[in-house]
Amino acid sequence: MRKKLIAANWKMYKTPEQTTAFFTEFLPMVADHTRDEIVVCPPFVDLHAAVEAASGSNVAVGAQNVHWEKEGAFTGEISVGMLSAVGVTHVIIGHSERRQYFNETDDTVNHKLKTALENGFTPIVCVGEVLEEREAGLTEDVLRRQCMRAFHGISARKAAKLTIAYEPVWAIGTGKTATPDCCNDAHLVIRHEAEKVFGKEFSEGLRILYGGSVKPDNASTLMSEEEIDGVLVGGASLDPVSFTKIVKY
Ligand code: PEP
Repeated sequence: MRKKLIAANWKMYKTPEQTTAFFTEFLPMVADHTRDEIVVCPPFVDLHAAVEAASGSNVAVGAQNVHWEKEGAFTGEISVGMLSAVGVTHVIIGHSERRQYFNETDDTVNHKLKTALENGFTPIVCVGEVLEEREAGLTEDVLRRQCMRAFHGISARKAAKLTIAYEPVWAIGTGKTATPDCCNDAHLVIRHEAEKVFGKEFSEGLRILYGGSVKPDNASTLMSEEEIDGVLVGGASLDPVSFTKIVKY
């Protein structure tokens, strides 16, 4: 039985003050929630406020990106050591917005994933096809390629905390949600790729989240699918009441 993970991706929204205000409202509403794991991933400058606010609670804090080098001349980047030092435990890797606007590739995703795993983080690796790829019948090929390259050179032992988020790019921030059937098919492709690389036992325990316009009113339908092990939520995670409704689907 895979415990579901409900993850918030705040993208480039909220200041430290707004972060503290969010947690002040959110934490009491989910304080008794043990059924699923909860993680909130704010922008870098809010991480300290988030960790401080969430300290001792059932909510973990994640970053939205990380660099693969320990330190160095990489202006504008953040290392795993820096994230650990502020108390961050999770990290989103290869979000489609990073791939689309900041030239992240399957190879950089692989470097980041290796570093995150080696340093004890729970990585949430995002994969998913764009609309043209879906319409051209290439969804499976894209998912296979993204997974194979992301997993390259990683052992099952090291990959223990790996989490995948299937996020069809055409469903992110658009109000369009993938149908449960379409998610199921995609998740099975991803699980099969994980099985090829890490083995059957590993793949059966691998959590695969769905992301793309998850809202309070579609969360329970999505979450009732056997293959959906949680959700990665953008827009609807910014409001504590709306995110609580998703957590308590
Ligand atoms: C996301 O940011 O990963 C996402 C799925 O966004 P939204 O929920 O707004 O579609």
